[in-house]
Amino acid sequence: MPLVEDCVFCKIIRGEIPCSKLYEDDQILAFLDIAPFNNGHALIVPKDHHHSITTLPAEFHAKIMETACKVAVAQMRVLKAEGFNLVLNNGRCAGQEVPHVHLHVIPRFVDDQPIFKASKKKYDSIEEMQKTAENIRAKLSE
Ligand code: AMP
Repeated sequence: MPLVEDCVFCKIIRGEIPCSKLYEDDQILAFLDIAPFNNGHALIVPKDHHHSITTLPAEFHAKIMETACKVAVAQMRVLKAEGFNLVLNNGRCAGQEVPHVHLHVIPRFVDDQPIFKASKKKYDSIEEMQKTAENIRAKLSE
């Protein structure tokens, strides 16, 4: 899909809004998040407007991940981060605020603030877990 008029990330890609650029090529733009979880928090953005990673052409998938890994290594070296989170919020219920696919690369430091606060759930039974897997497996093989 072409870039769109009222999308903030399309505007950054077109150079209409400034950004703190980290990397750019013909497919990808990487820049710092304006409201970071930690210093150096980066966004990897494809130069193709799609709300969802599921409709983004597959040629971008590997490129996004490759760029994220390079940015993460640079963050760790420059900022002395000891780890990182790769986060892709897909859909409003998943916390996606900007409807243009982007991968967050968040540098992490020992004893920094937790980013994910939700507690994990349990299946009622192993049968329920197996049934869930079976249903998803069936859909995948359609
Ligand atoms: P998400 O909730 O996954 O959609 O994340 C969107 C991210 O984009 C947020 O972390 C925002 O802080 C960030 N953001 C929004 N506008 C800008 C901007 N103009 N420059 C840099 N980052 C931005």
